[in-house]
Amino acid sequence: MTMDAGRKRQLIAAVANQVIAHADELTTLDQAIGDGDHGINMKRGFEAVLADADTLADKPLPDMLKAIGLQLVMKVGGASGPLYGTLFMAMGKALPAEPTMAEFARAFGEAIEAVKQRGKSDVGQKTMLDVLAPVQAELAKSGQASRLKEIAEAAALASVPMKAVRGRASFLGDRSIGHMDPGGRSSALIVAAVCDTLST
Ligand code: ADP
Ligand code: MG
Repeated sequence: MTMDAGRKRQLIAAVANQVIAHADELTTLDQAIGDGDHGINMKRGFEAVLADADTLADKPLPDMLKAIGLQLVMKVGGASGPLYGTLFMAMGKALPAEPTMAEFARAFGEAIEAVKQRGKSDVGQKTMLDVLAPVQAELAKSGQASRLKEIAEAAALASVPMKAVRGRASFLGDRSIGHMDPGGRSSALIVAAVCDTLST
């Protein structure tokens, strides 16, 4: 995967604009089982990333991801800010400058492990991990991005019947059942934007 600055700029813009465009939807999801700030949090973070897109895109891919992670930690806030920040920073740390798809899948896997550690969480608890983990597993297995968007969207949908065991939604116990996890939805949106951009 060789990416010039223009391509990286395009990826950053696609992800940021996707999150920003869906901020109201993320907020509505978080109103149902959280405190209703996920859309606002994510929009604030990705607006900062977008404003910095040119500088970010000039960096080598690992440094770009680390810098995006740092922006998210500083700007998103809530539980998701440090967790998305960890995801991007850990991925940047684990990647070589011009990764193969296999190296990318491995770095993504390490980043998910870092999120689990940071969040004291695991798959099956109705969080972003329930979307990120199956996407990473498919990438590691197939080495292709073609089905990732579909898998991410299905995984976000599969969070609806789950009971939250981590995060604010866990305070609701059984009442968290029947709603999509906001962080799972934002993860699916990010995966979809990356896939749509890479397929053009
Ligand atoms: P807050 O819960 O502090 O208001 P947000 O609303 O921005 O933060 O983010 C909530 C999302 O963060 C949840 O939908 C969930 O996907 C994710 N999340 C929360 N806690 C954890 C955790 N411990 N591990 C993984 N993801 C988590
Ligand atoms: Mg919230």
